[in-house]
Amino acid sequence: MSEGLARPEPRVTPVNEPYFVGAHKGKLMLQQCSSCCKFLFYPRVACPYCFALGTLLWVEASGQGSVESFSFVHRPQHPSFLSEVPIAFAAIRLVEGPTMLSVVRDVNARSIRLGMAVRADFEPINADYSLVIWKPATAHTGAATSSDV
Ligand SMILES: [Zn+2]
Repeated sequence: MSEGLARPEPRVTPVNEPYFVGAHKGKLMLQQCSSCCKFLFYPRVACPYCFALGTLLWVEASGQGSVESFSFVHRPQHPSFLSEVPIAFAAIRLVEGPTMLSVVRDVNARSIRLGMAVRADFEPINADYSLVIWKPATAHTGAATSSDV
């Protein structure tokens, strides 16, 4: 994360607040329609699949996805990101179905691949907000493996 300049804060509304509250607690929250059972992202007031109102529930997602498309940002739109360039910006296909635009950390132009498995991680930008970012799913998670025994 860039030191010095403050990162821009997300625009939190009553509709998307559970997403940002979850992210700050280390949880990837998605809306799921209780009528047609589909997951959706970005947060909305009505289901875009069955058009039902009042059927969207917040649930914790798996945090697993894959890189569907990507590009590297060399000229960010805010100076607080300058120390991070090039930034891998990707469309992540969540295993639940929706696509999320986000940053992938711990990759470079040689290591990122279409279809690469990624997992959600959470990056605090200040005391109140964290952003959902993604990392390669194969990166060491600190969990014990058979080779650690
Ligand atoms: Zn629906």
